[in-house]
Amino acid sequence: MTTTAITHWINGRAEAGHGERRQDVYNPATGAVSGSLHLADEQDLQHTLEAARAAADTWAEVSLSKRMAVLFKFRELVHAHTDELAAIITAEHGKVLSDAAGEVGRGLEVVEFACALPQTLKGEFTDQTASGIDVFSFRQPLGVVAGITPFNFPVMVPLWMAPLAIATGNAFVLKPSERDPSASLLLAQLWKEAGLPDGVFQVLHGDKDTVNGLLTHELVDAISFVGSTPIARHVYETGTRHGKRVQALGGAKNHAVVMPDADLDLAADHLSAAAFGSAGERCMAISVAVAVGDAAEELVARVGDRARAITVGDGTSDGVDMGPLITPASQDRVRRIVTEAQQDGAAVVVDGRDLVVEGHEDGFFVGPTVLDQVKDTMTAYEEEIFGPVLAVVRVETLEEAIRVINANPYGNGTAIFTGSGNAARTFQRRVTVGMIGVNVPVPVPAAQHSFGGWKDSLFGDHHIYGPDGVRFYTRGKVVTQRWPAQNDESGASMNFPTNA
Ligand code: NAD
Repeated sequence: MTTTAITHWINGRAEAGHGERRQDVYNPATGAVSGSLHLADEQDLQHTLEAARAAADTWAEVSLSKRMAVLFKFRELVHAHTDELAAIITAEHGKVLSDAAGEVGRGLEVVEFACALPQTLKGEFTDQTASGIDVFSFRQPLGVVAGITPFNFPVMVPLWMAPLAIATGNAFVLKPSERDPSASLLLAQLWKEAGLPDGVFQVLHGDKDTVNGLLTHELVDAISFVGSTPIARHVYETGTRHGKRVQALGGAKNHAVVMPDADLDLAADHLSAAAFGSAGERCMAISVAVAVGDAAEELVARVGDRARAITVGDGTSDGVDMGPLITPASQDRVRRIVTEAQQDGAAVVVDGRDLVVEGHEDGFFVGPTVLDQVKDTMTAYEEEIFGPVLAVVRVETLEEAIRVINANPYGNGTAIFTGSGNAARTFQRRVTVGMIGVNVPVPVPAAQHSFGGWKDSLFGDHHIYGPDGVRFYTRGKVVTQRWPAQNDESGASMNFPTNA
């Protein structure tokens, strides 16, 4: 098997860089090494950030209409290369091709939102706020923005950040996940083909050393981070301590409440898709079903049927619903957590621990797993498993379900399945969670809204993309102006100025 050298993208071209460290990249469906990733050293970091700084200064002066022309072209190119991007995602991440193409589509929505920037960035103007005085406000780019992204959406999450950062006039340095880094390089080529000047979008590969270099470097103005909660907290604390604007999105434990009046077939279909799609490696995956009252028995039976019907295999093969996990370590961890839950009294209704995919014996597979009678003291409940495991918690009332959700430290997404508008309304008003679905299991907001969780799922003041994205990548100015007539004799006052 040949391995490809995966290099950086610095100042408009592929660059091997000076760093001598390399990291293997795997095809998780076969377990084979497919690439050798170049990890940046300090010299590479410096070189990239100097190019970004220079590019930011000129790009910020490019007219909005010219910037939008690049964005529109980029949109067309990403759209045209969807299949190619999806193939790269599947080869390194493992998710099935149709899911990978869906990821590209959701990223494209943010590019399209960025194409509307002339409308969303418009300032405000107050005529004659005091005699002869007008006030207006507008927003300007920050400078150099670093984006640090997780393995589970190697195209979509960078596209949550870069289109808006670039459209608003910043230079953007992407530090992709080292586990599936290749798609970022095709994105870089597409930006160049769209006419983006060199240095405005760059890719610097690395691990925690590169991240820590970005968090503390004087040439970085802002950080957008998406990843696990412990790293998100570290990124937020370190970045802000070094004077940077930081938004850091963390992990999740998303609960779906199923009420006794819900359509149980609809709930079972959607819960199964939301728990096992992408092998559960989505920050908006449903990992806990909270079955209320009589819903439990039937729900567990029907979700179990759905889970058993899922075809697991290589994401490039036709008819496969679910691919492998990202690493052998992840595979071992998921199996261990399921075993511990069983020892602690949970019922393993569907068991994916020993699944072997024929012809892919070295792939990192775990099959769909359903745990019933899960308690909040079990690791399977406390930790984000990030695998194809649905834990069922049984409660008696909606009140109790809301208490369970609000006691959880995460607050990314949640959903309720019900036939009652009143139950849905009570739920959406009372849960301490940022994104809520009503009979919708994975409520990822459309691009014209912003995405973000509460509590340990987000550190910072801004959600990502949408209107919050525009605000995050810009800062405001307010101008108070007077243009007196030549014969103006109103004079000045020693008093504090009032709006008279
Ligand atoms: P991760 O936290 O391990 O890695 C994310 C990024 O941080 C990577 O680029 C990695 O190189 C870097 N990193 C890793 N360890 C570091 C360290 N010690 N110091 C500095 N940087 C470090 O996350 P992951 O495993 O790649 O992705 C899965 C996690 O991301 C899950 O927890 C998932 O819920 C979360 N996620 C959250 C969202 C959201 O919107 N809230 C979206 C996608 C993924």
